[in-house]
Amino acid sequence: MKIAVFSTKSYDKDYLDRFNTDHEFTYYEAPLNAKTANLTQGHDGVCVFVNDKPDAEAIALMAANGIRLIVLRCAGFNNVDLDAAKKFHLDVKRVPAYSPEAVAEHALALILTLARKTHKAYNRVRESNFSLERLNGFNISGKTIGVVGTGRIGTAFCRIMSGFGARLLAYDLFDSPELKQSAVQYVSLDQIMAESDIISLHCPLNPSTKYLINKDSIALMKKGVMIINTSRGGLINTKDVLKALKQGKIGYLGIDVYEQEENLFFSDLSESIVQDDLIARLISFPNVLITAHQGFFTNEALEQIASVTIRNITDFENSVINGNEVV
Ligand code: NAD
Repeated sequence: MKIAVFSTKSYDKDYLDRFNTDHEFTYYEAPLNAKTANLTQGHDGVCVFVNDKPDAEAIALMAANGIRLIVLRCAGFNNVDLDAAKKFHLDVKRVPAYSPEAVAEHALALILTLARKTHKAYNRVRESNFSLERLNGFNISGKTIGVVGTGRIGTAFCRIMSGFGARLLAYDLFDSPELKQSAVQYVSLDQIMAESDIISLHCPLNPSTKYLINKDSIALMKKGVMIINTSRGGLINTKDVLKALKQGKIGYLGIDVYEQEENLFFSDLSESIVQDDLIARLISFPNVLITAHQGFFTNEALEQIASVTIRNITDFENSVINGNEVV
């Protein structure tokens, strides 16, 4: 099949080319949206990532160009207008599970960096500043960790954190039988907010989870709580979190995703004037750690993403239902 690949980075091309034998890929650095949808002319399908915008307008234009398939190089599909895909008879397939440990381990990296201030220590030592003043951190052992969403990544995260001797609370719409057998305790969302020292978000973004972290849920939290978000930026109301950081109510924030990330992440803007004042303010806090959506970014995960993406295209071509269908 002829596939137009959008938002291509060097590593996307490297890994897709490594696993591809049967399909013809055209690589575009541009993101997919209504303005770029015409680049799909002459193709059968598109391959997109988290910040592409296959919205109703883009899908209508693509369908007119003969596009029949959207393959996502990711698990989340909140950026795709599924009703429009159905209306125009486009199939949508994703990579539901690619190394959940990659994202879970990244959440841990954010936690330990914030808790032990290793990012500051690294910079200090490079300047031959060997002082420990203000580098005091805290133990994870004995703390209460609240996990929102115990699917693949949340479960991997619980497994990792159980090794720290922490108390683990979880909330999900469906309890995981595996975790219920472990030391993880399922509680209400309010209890997670009220009792946790660290809250880690592992649920998808949808209308029921949008702004899960907002002024009301923050009001329930302990003073000095750490919030970790490796899922989707829209789970957090950034303005409310900023206010709580200024007041000291939130003690630490580690985010790998950001509400307005499509204008920022995956690009080198080091020579540009960043227009987003919210992220500029967030960057200024000493107790905020931001990574630019790199939770998935391990060699193991990239191999799985490329091989499953290619299998999704081949299975679509052969009318094989493989369980990765979104629509
Ligand atoms: P998953 O589908 O396996 O698990 C999601 C879990 O969230 C499910 O158990 C589901 O029941 C639960 N859930 C749904 N609605 C909920 C709600 N209202 N409250 C609480 N729980 C709810 O997904 P996953 O593979 O574990 O991925 C989780 C999220 O991680 C994805 O949706 C994606 O946004 C994000 N992600 C981020 C990266 C990254 O690089 N940072 C990479 C992959 C995935």
